[in-house]
Amino acid sequence: MYRIVTVFLIVIVSILAFVTDTRAERPPNIVLILSDDAGYADFGFQGSKTFQTPNLDKLAANGVKFTQAYVTAAVCGPSRAGLLTGTYQQKFGFEENNVKGYMSASSRYLGDDMGLPLDQVTMADRLKALGYKTGVFGKWHMGHADRYHPFKRGFDEFVGFRSGARSYFPYGDDNPNDDWAKSLEYGFGKYEEKEGYMTDILVDETVAFVERNREQPFFAYLSFNAVHTPMQALEEDLQQFSSLTGKRKTVAAMALAMDRAVGRLLNKLYELGIADNTLIVFTNDNGGPSDTNGSVNDPLSGTKANHLEGGIRVPFLMSWPGKIKPNTNFHHPISTLDLLPTFLNAAGGEASKVVGLDGVDLMPFLNEEKNEAPHDVLYWKKENRAAIRQGDWKLIRFPDRPAELFNLNDDISEVNDLAASQPDRVRAMYKKLFEWELTLDRPLWQLKRLYEGKAAIRMDNFRKMKPQN
Ligand code: CA
Repeated sequence: MYRIVTVFLIVIVSILAFVTDTRAERPPNIVLILSDDAGYADFGFQGSKTFQTPNLDKLAANGVKFTQAYVTAAVCGPSRAGLLTGTYQQKFGFEENNVKGYMSASSRYLGDDMGLPLDQVTMADRLKALGYKTGVFGKWHMGHADRYHPFKRGFDEFVGFRSGARSYFPYGDDNPNDDWAKSLEYGFGKYEEKEGYMTDILVDETVAFVERNREQPFFAYLSFNAVHTPMQALEEDLQQFSSLTGKRKTVAAMALAMDRAVGRLLNKLYELGIADNTLIVFTNDNGGPSDTNGSVNDPLSGTKANHLEGGIRVPFLMSWPGKIKPNTNFHHPISTLDLLPTFLNAAGGEASKVVGLDGVDLMPFLNEEKNEAPHDVLYWKKENRAAIRQGDWKLIRFPDRPAELFNLNDDISEVNDLAASQPDRVRAMYKKLFEWELTLDRPLWQLKRLYEGKAAIRMDNFRKMKPQN
């Protein structure tokens, strides 16, 4: 009798061990949450006392916060092209924002044909090849034409809009210029405006995707249009910010709605028992455009569309239970280019075998297998404007004034230009930047010159000033 019981117990224990093993070996789910045009300062975990982001703050407490995280461009389209491919987007001509009606007639592409070139492989393509179920919910902005549709770029599911922005409420007859790319699209070509607030609709779809795919590894890319214009919030959310007025009040309410949506997604992962095996990233696609949406990038200088830190340094969180220590900070510079190799290796792929990636797997740096900085140098470029960061030094090249040099370790607000006192360093960094540019392609489309002038004015309007003695 005892013998039978013992054998029975051994069998049970073996089965349990096997189940545990397969669970441990199952690659993690990957959830990428992207906000749009959010201010660097406008989150609780970034130090805001006025904005309310308890769910994102909890995510920060569960993982690592990167204090020097960069996007690859100061505007939406190119930033997302770099993020999705793990490659500097200028290498394949996606240097400028792809917004219909704003382009120079000299561009190779001007309209719906602007998009992520078809020879580029996205993180969704790569994760799908490893057996992941992939879905994108929200803003796409990688081209309006059918050939650029998420279904052609590695995603199994899509609910969102192909354009770079849209109303938060359903369109009636007021879709501007009859722009079909702003319409809410279900899958491929099925357009249906739905009652509700866009931020809520997008998380509803993400949650449903997660529920449907909980038994297998999935990649969910939740691409909020919040807090991009138009400035539209729910009345109940506006009421939470009685001390604020105007756009500032609206953007705070929009961020609150986004945080609530993030909370719903995180809770669903817990409820389904899969949170422990899910790698989650939250970041933002470019710095806040303080003039159009009331966002604040303090203590950084600059805004969306320029290469001061306020345009390119973004809030960035990553959590992965059991793999990333909770409540930690990582201080070396990193880039959204690093997401693709990090995800690929986490999923069981081999990023080191992919030719042409500019990012690195962040995990060896987070678990202290590697102690050096992940990047020796980072670059940014749009037309003749550009920037290069090496160590703590950053050189910015402008079209309308001499290059400026900052030491970001001492001067996070970029108010103390050291170019005149360090001509050798300026010359060396200027040259290194140019050498990188020689590896790039020409832009496939370009904005009208007029907008370069506007970008310079906006930058100057939102620069911090050197304290007067
Ligand atoms: Ca954006």
